[in-house]
Amino acid sequence: MNNFLIENYHTLINEIQQVTEKSGRDLNSIKLIAVTKNFPSEYIKTLYNEDHNDFGENRAQELREKYEELKNFDIVWHFIGRIQTNKIKYIVPIAEYIHSVWRMKEIEEIQKRAEEINKTQKVLLEINISGERSKAGLIPNQVDAFLQDAISFKNIKIIGLMTMAPYTDNANVIRNVFRSLRELRDNLNKKYPSIKELSMGMTNDYKIAIEEGATLLRIGTRIFGNRYL
Ligand SMILES: *Cc1c(COP(=O)(O)O)cnc(C)c1O
Repeated sequence: MNNFLIENYHTLINEIQQVTEKSGRDLNSIKLIAVTKNFPSEYIKTLYNEDHNDFGENRAQELREKYEELKNFDIVWHFIGRIQTNKIKYIVPIAEYIHSVWRMKEIEEIQKRAEEINKTQKVLLEINISGERSKAGLIPNQVDAFLQDAISFKNIKIIGLMTMAPYTDNANVIRNVFRSLRELRDNLNKKYPSIKELSMGMTNDYKIAIEEGATLLRIGTRIFGNRYL
């Protein structure tokens, strides 16, 4: 009965609590998203029985399959992966949050699909803090101009920013990325009050992310183990 999973989950929750308290933050300001990509729906059910409701997927097809399997469960789905514009029609009816939006054509397609079902889609903008060419996301100095257009789509609510730290053991590099995202959020929030959330922090860097102000943690491996692809 997936006991290891229950144990990992509660250990993680305890660790999150400890870091949060140490950082002088309010536990209610942080939400854990359990990232279940490549893992079976059974794992979702196991955590659901521990009173966990927020789950993250990074592929539209897998999101749809799991949604179908778990229709009777009161799950809050987060889409966190790279977006293919032609898959948005599948994502919008399922995902309460889409974390990884950064192209205007995605905004336009989300608007279209959300309007069709009379929904207000919550969206976060993915930011490429380090500016590496290979990475997805808006670079910080593009965000304001992007928002001037994107903020007025009536079926979209842009609620925050998301980033992925670079793959490195250097905690200072990671910390600087998370801190930069927070500073960007603070600046944008003055002009766009809906922008509040910071989706940052994964298995290897979530403690730093909490210290730097994360409000949405996206964690998979720490709970479910390694994904063998
Ligand atoms: C897989 C994934 C995560 C979770 O990563 P772990 O290292 O397994 O915790 C977080 N965010 C995104 C966008 C992912 O694709």
